[in-house]
Amino acid sequence: MTKIGFIGLGIMGGPMAANLVKAGFDVTGYNRSRAKVDRLVEAGGRDADSVADAVRDADVVVTMLPDSPDVEAVVLGEDGVLAHAKPGTLLVDCSTIRPDVSRAIAERMRALDAPVSGGEQGAIEGSLSIMVGGGAEDFAAARPVLDAVGSTVVHVGEAGAGQTVKAANQLIVAGTIELVAESLVFLEAHGVDTEAAIKVLSGGLAGNRVLDRKAAAMVRREFTPGFRVELHHKDLGIVQAAAREAGVAIPLGAAVAQLMAALNAQGHGGLDHGALLKLVAQLSGREEV
Ligand code: NAD
Repeated sequence: MTKIGFIGLGIMGGPMAANLVKAGFDVTGYNRSRAKVDRLVEAGGRDADSVADAVRDADVVVTMLPDSPDVEAVVLGEDGVLAHAKPGTLLVDCSTIRPDVSRAIAERMRALDAPVSGGEQGAIEGSLSIMVGGGAEDFAAARPVLDAVGSTVVHVGEAGAGQTVKAANQLIVAGTIELVAESLVFLEAHGVDTEAAIKVLSGGLAGNRVLDRKAAAMVRREFTPGFRVELHHKDLGIVQAAAREAGVAIPLGAAVAQLMAALNAQGHGGLDHGALLKLVAQLSGREEV
């Protein structure tokens, strides 16, 4: 049986690790806060007290951590994956981080960058979209693990390519949320029944997953994450740097990056990114900060 060491059992990593247990893998989990490890044990996994403990016997190590410095520390740090895993262990990093950090890690050990899309719901259902960068043989080796947590699993290129595709994903999602938020505030200001509007808009060319999955909660001002504003703010930084590196102009992306930055600066980093609606309502003089 493939032994998996899983590090980072948060909103996404928790249900992903549980799905790996369900698929029959032997999963040992580590998280900085202990309660999340206990949840994995309840789901049938094993607990670890450190990164070293989680990866020592692993064939595959999966990481699902917030940001580039977290992945660098956990993978390359003194007490990290590279220092304690068996030679030849395959790292599957599902975190959303900078493509250059993924490339640097892949120079040091067998590694795939495998960021995901589909949100908490996709993680729970095991229906994530996974964009994978790295070697073809490593991709083939990781396939059973990826298939246990995702339903659309695509090898998109060499190391770092998965992160580049994920950056494009975050650009589309941020822009879409902003336009849905603007549309909802616009409809509210006109006194239109937003529920009826969402229903009919979903059936036409304006239909999209944000409208299907998030709009109702946005109208109710329910912003429990989900995907936190602070993480999307991080991702739009990655998008802007990567666009600059490629010499590509992203005027709408830059605008939405500023709006996300404002929401974060207002102290709303812990809310779901659907909270862009708060900002639109506030800019329109319809709500307090
Ligand atoms: P989260 O904050 O809920 O989970 C991260 C977990 O990592 C936390 O439980 C934290 O305690 C743990 N952690 C942090 N540093 C650690 C360390 N040094 N050692 C051990 N554990 C550590 O975040 P999340 O929403 O699960 O997101 C994780 C990654 O997935 C991010 O890169 C995010 O951008 C990406 N992502 C999130 C979503 C989403 O909808 N939430 C969707 C797609 C991608």
